[in-house]
Amino acid sequence: MKRPPALVSFEVANAAKIDIKSLELNELQKLADLRQPSYRARQITDWLYTRRVDSFEEMTDLPRDLRAELGKQFAFGKIDIVRVLGSRDTTRKFLFRLSDESLIESVLIPASPALYGEKSDRRTICVSTQVGCAYGCKFCASGLEGFSRNLRPNEIVDQIIAIERETGEKIDNIVFMGMGEPLANLDNVTRAIRIINAPWGLGIGARRITVSTSGLAPQIRKLADEPLQIRLAISLHGATDEVRDQIMPINRKYNIDMLLSACDYYTKRKKQRLTFEYILIAGVNDTEEQAHLLARHARRLSAKVNLIPYNAVEGLPWSRPSHNRQEKFLSILRAEEIPATLRREKGHDIDAACGQLRLQTRREEFELVRRS
Ligand code: SF4
Repeated sequence: MKRPPALVSFEVANAAKIDIKSLELNELQKLADLRQPSYRARQITDWLYTRRVDSFEEMTDLPRDLRAELGKQFAFGKIDIVRVLGSRDTTRKFLFRLSDESLIESVLIPASPALYGEKSDRRTICVSTQVGCAYGCKFCASGLEGFSRNLRPNEIVDQIIAIERETGEKIDNIVFMGMGEPLANLDNVTRAIRIINAPWGLGIGARRITVSTSGLAPQIRKLADEPLQIRLAISLHGATDEVRDQIMPINRKYNIDMLLSACDYYTKRKKQRLTFEYILIAGVNDTEEQAHLLARHARRLSAKVNLIPYNAVEGLPWSRPSHNRQEKFLSILRAEEIPATLRREKGHDIDAACGQLRLQTRREEFELVRRS
């Protein structure tokens, strides 16, 4: 059987072999190079995403020599759940160990009332896109240990498959808002989205997929040029450069003007409303002045605003504003007729802010090693 030409060119650093779940249907159809009929590709995706087997050996309607050849050419990764926090009716947090021992997190939110303009009976999963994060937002646990590497497409898709398998629940809403900056891993993220969205893949509608960015303006423009009709959320967290500079280093590279003009481009190309995420941090970004300026930015883009009271992170100095202050901020936006919600934080009791469980586990492992 002759070896096929390289099928894909996305980032596969540190991967000896490309994982089969990083391939799209059209690439699998090139299995004709393995002298196979093109319907084999659909057989393979059926095994991967409908029956969800864990090995090529289990694909019993494929010829034995094809299974062996696939095993030689492609990896068949899976990610292991090492910890789960939370219970069935609450936000649950999953810690995964990858094949290179890296740890990542996903969060399953049982219902997300109107978070992105959707109905409230959705099971939402918040997925990670990188191991660690290089962007160093001052309020975030994910950046505390720096950046290790980008996740590969299969490692993003596998977070969803693993959680559906563990919980027996069907996920119907995906937000790219876990560990890492999705647009800094744009090729792998868009590839994963195509697999998640495809009828031959996980079949989750594009409008039920939201990508969140801390403000990588050039990549927002690139994403706008992709045909995917996914939703975009901007982690704004400050309505002026002065405030954003203080808590989000990315703002020194792409300031609010640059960010909003990239957002203008996105909304014009996609003809859809985007969302501003705004974590309310006491004494930092929760003033009435910030609320009025945020309303002005939201009006310019016809954006919705999600206010999220800050979730305390051990080792960081920030705290959430009082309940009254949160409500005051919300009322200013509403008085200015901006569609806005105040998230009654679901993960508060289980350290749901991204990066916290990983950090805690790393610290515990470190303690164990130190004591041994
Ligand atoms: S908020 Fe997002 S972009 Fe900022 S450090 Fe955390 S994971 Fe990275």
